[in-house]
Amino acid sequence: MESANKKSAVGSDSVTGVLKRIIAENGRDHIGGYVFAISCLVVVALTTAFTAWIMKVIIDEAFANRRADMIWIICLSIFLAFVLRGFASYGQAVALSRIGNNIVARYQRRLYAHLMTLSVGFYNEARSAHIAARVSQNVGGIRDVMNMVITSAARDLLTFISLIGVMVFQDPLLSLAVFILAPPLLYGLRYLSKRLRQATKEAIYLSSHVLGAMQETIQGIAIVKAFTMESELQRKLNKLVAAAEARTNRIARLSERNAPMTETFAGFAVASVLAYAAYRSIYHNVPPGAFFSFVTALLLAYDPARRLARLQIQLERAAVNARMVYELLDMEPRQRDLPDAKPLPVTDARIEFRDVSFAYGVDPILSNVSFVAEGGKTTALVGPSGAGKSTVISLIPRFFDPKSGQIFVDGQDIAHVTKQSLREQLAYVSQQPYLFEGTIRENIRYGRPEASDAEVEEAARLAYAHEFILAQPNGYDTPVGENGVTLSGGQRQRLSIARALVRNAPILLLDEATSALDTESEAAVQKALDEAMTGRTVVVIAHRLSTVVRADKIVVMQQGRVVEEGNHETLAKLSDGLYARLNNLQRPAASDSL
Ligand code: ADP
Repeated sequence: MESANKKSAVGSDSVTGVLKRIIAENGRDHIGGYVFAISCLVVVALTTAFTAWIMKVIIDEAFANRRADMIWIICLSIFLAFVLRGFASYGQAVALSRIGNNIVARYQRRLYAHLMTLSVGFYNEARSAHIAARVSQNVGGIRDVMNMVITSAARDLLTFISLIGVMVFQDPLLSLAVFILAPPLLYGLRYLSKRLRQATKEAIYLSSHVLGAMQETIQGIAIVKAFTMESELQRKLNKLVAAAEARTNRIARLSERNAPMTETFAGFAVASVLAYAAYRSIYHNVPPGAFFSFVTALLLAYDPARRLARLQIQLERAAVNARMVYELLDMEPRQRDLPDAKPLPVTDARIEFRDVSFAYGVDPILSNVSFVAEGGKTTALVGPSGAGKSTVISLIPRFFDPKSGQIFVDGQDIAHVTKQSLREQLAYVSQQPYLFEGTIRENIRYGRPEASDAEVEEAARLAYAHEFILAQPNGYDTPVGENGVTLSGGQRQRLSIARALVRNAPILLLDEATSALDTESEAAVQKALDEAMTGRTVVVIAHRLSTVVRADKIVVMQQGRVVEEGNHETLAKLSDGLYARLNNLQRPAASDSL
């Protein structure tokens, strides 16, 4: 089903493919609105045609036959036609906007929901993430496609057709002449305007060069003078200016060439048409009303015809945006739960890595990593940067899946449990605390949406955040995130620890911050972390010596392998061990950081 969709939208690159899908997905839900909008557009088209048609009656009855009694009816009907057209235009515009906005809203919701199902791996690829960010702004493309099709098809096409109808009805012979002569004329004009566009582009390019050169000179005037570059620069500029001047002259010639051509043609057309009309009126007694009505219809048909001609290009442009939206929506979530996945019951929260190997791409990042993080104990991962510690942590919530080997929680392979139930057992405190748009209370409550206010505040207290939160302008209801108050690094960290605490999950994954905080914040964050760590299974990427020293177990990693395992005493004694070396290296300089 997914892949079938994919084919229709992406596989077939045609505009019609995208169009079909957009209509299939949106048409039915808005059928009422569209019917209304189209009816309004039909009214617009018909009233426009009516104004052209009524010219005949005006000329013949009012001017030729001098029927005073008709004047009122004619004028009233013209007035009514205009009023009707105004209301119909209003009606269709409002109806289409409402539908359009609703389509945008629906796609935004759909995209957002879909973006969250995509794996962390997807966002790791810079291109994908970039597309994701951009595409959410492109949903408007879908609305534009829909509205363009409706407005153009219904209004312009209907108007055009009904005006042609008026023309043919009023004067079939002249209509035939128009149909034969118009295409070559339009083609000629299009050719000219194409060349004109090209020349304009070149002229803009050249004049921006001239401006750029001047600007450069002004900015670097000291250098110009010091190196006496004046005459050299002047020569260069003269050349540029001359080129720009020649180009603008060419534009003038090209654009004015339109005039002799169209005027000649128009003069010829108007003269011969007038001759024809007058001839018929004089010799065959045909009243001139039909002729004027015909000319009015012809003039009125020009605008819709032009818009219809441009429709293809505009549709293609809008379809590009729409296609990008669909590309993203069709992207399969890469990690699905296995069909027989079960919820994960947790008792001790003992985590075991067994022979786990992993690669983001081709280069192996983890090779046969095995270790146990005992339930209720703290396991510290240490090792040089790039050793694979963060990667180990990211495998536990299944942000990625191992290439081989298994990870167990209480003896259950996490590949066979539902991701939702697995993640419910985890709390995560990242190196860089992330706060979302919303209030402080909401940010803490993301840890567990059903937590009561009292529980949120209790967590904040435990995280040593309660006091500074109360000191904010609106306490717990103070907004944070992009448009909120500015909090210090330490305060943000304590909020993210409170978020982890309120979750009350048996497993805590912790990436200790490396960035330096001031001593006071540091102490508060440390105390908050201690609170968060008690009674849980903690896997921590440790940067502080104190964390490592107190850990129940230390797993030393290097180049994607576990090279040593033990506690501080045992590892420090291994005189040629990596841990002992790291430990000695760090100790004299900063006694509390590893
Ligand atoms: P540590 O946490 O020990 O510093 P990491 O697990 O962050 O180590 O990184 C281990 C290796 O994996 C490094 O070589 C790093 O360049 C690579 N790596 C980390 N994240 C990604 C990623 N998202 N995509 C590709 N390579 C990555």
